[in-house]
Amino acid sequence: MADKSTALIHHAYQPPAGFAAPQPGVFKASTVFFPNVAAMRSFEWKDKSAYTYGLHGTPTTYILEERLSALEGGKQCLLVPSGLAAIATVSQALLKSGDEVLMPHNVYGPGKALVEGELMHWGIGHQFYDPMQPQDLAAKINPKTRLIWLEAAGSVTLEFPDLCEQVRLCRAAGVLCALDNTWGAGVAFSPFDLQPDISPPLAVDISIHALTKYPSGGGDVLMGSIVTVDDHLHRQLKLCHMRLGLGVGANDAEAILRSLPSLMLRYRSHDETTRLLAQWCLSRPEFAQVLHPALPESPGHAHWRCLCQNGLGGAAGLLSIIFQPSYTVAQVDAFCDALQVFKIGYSWGGPISLAMPYDLLTMRPCWPLYLKPGTLVRFAVGLEAVTDLQADLAQALGAIQSDVAFA
Ligand SMILES: *Cc1c(COP(=O)(O)O)cnc(C)c1O
Repeated sequence: MADKSTALIHHAYQPPAGFAAPQPGVFKASTVFFPNVAAMRSFEWKDKSAYTYGLHGTPTTYILEERLSALEGGKQCLLVPSGLAAIATVSQALLKSGDEVLMPHNVYGPGKALVEGELMHWGIGHQFYDPMQPQDLAAKINPKTRLIWLEAAGSVTLEFPDLCEQVRLCRAAGVLCALDNTWGAGVAFSPFDLQPDISPPLAVDISIHALTKYPSGGGDVLMGSIVTVDDHLHRQLKLCHMRLGLGVGANDAEAILRSLPSLMLRYRSHDETTRLLAQWCLSRPEFAQVLHPALPESPGHAHWRCLCQNGLGGAAGLLSIIFQPSYTVAQVDAFCDALQVFKIGYSWGGPISLAMPYDLLTMRPCWPLYLKPGTLVRFAVGLEAVTDLQADLAQALGAIQSDVAFA
């Protein structure tokens, strides 16, 4: 099946005899029975040839792993209890004392907390690089560098890096690169085939994904995946995963399996609504800058176009705006409080639109040159009608104008 959406919906599974149904069964187990002692001794948990213990996999987690590998164009997948656990597992599996890891300045915030608060205590160093200057990444790669994290787009500031160039730099230096592919979700572009016209494919080594976001789609499940194409690398990650005792519950796996067939449809809807809202935001004088990869004026727009099939791959559901500097932080807070359809909350990918103000200077060493000064608010656009979302933004902007008038 050529279309990814159809392939995801029709992904084969082996139903119990005489019971083929739209969704695979849900199997729960810690204990798995062995037919005899010899079988117990011969069964191998490190591959999928036999079941040995619930932590090492069940039919439910295996089918989810297979579908996620297929979605991202990879070969193997590990499931972990959250997206952050995926970042932590990759880091712990591949880094040891004396090594160094590189991360972009706009990396998902808790990833920064991981390197600064945990890895540092284990003697693992880190440096942050400018995601928009490949030469800065090149300059920071050194003999200690063992792992390079990549992210496209930045999940708060939405600048889009030259991912292909970054991967080429990692390849040239012989350093493993891991992509946080939560934004692209396996839909916007293929992490293991970044430039479909070249062979061998230009690929990241590892793609991690917060399934918490688009694959769940409900704002009600936490899970992460680690997808690879190399057996040896997968095994190295899997051994660490096992030693750390990581696994996911069957009910959570089922929730993701239930949501996956509508992933493409939802991603397209988030994308379409977000593009319309971004256009509308451009017309508002209150905003100094609108950040969304599909806007020609947004930082890295050309890289987004190039990577995401000339734009057809989509641009997810995140949109940030920077208020004119004349708006105080208190006014921007009041704007967020005045929103009614948009709720205030972290995360994204669920049905309900969310707004969150960010203080960029607490997140970065300095204000990036490509961002205008002012307070940033990120919107995670849900599945509501664009007319209702636009009206909500308009009424909240109106509410803070009248505050000014009364002050
Ligand atoms: C949410 C998120 C994560 C972490 O996912 P959790 O399941 O919430 O731990 C990682 N990376 C990005 C870009 C995210 O948005």
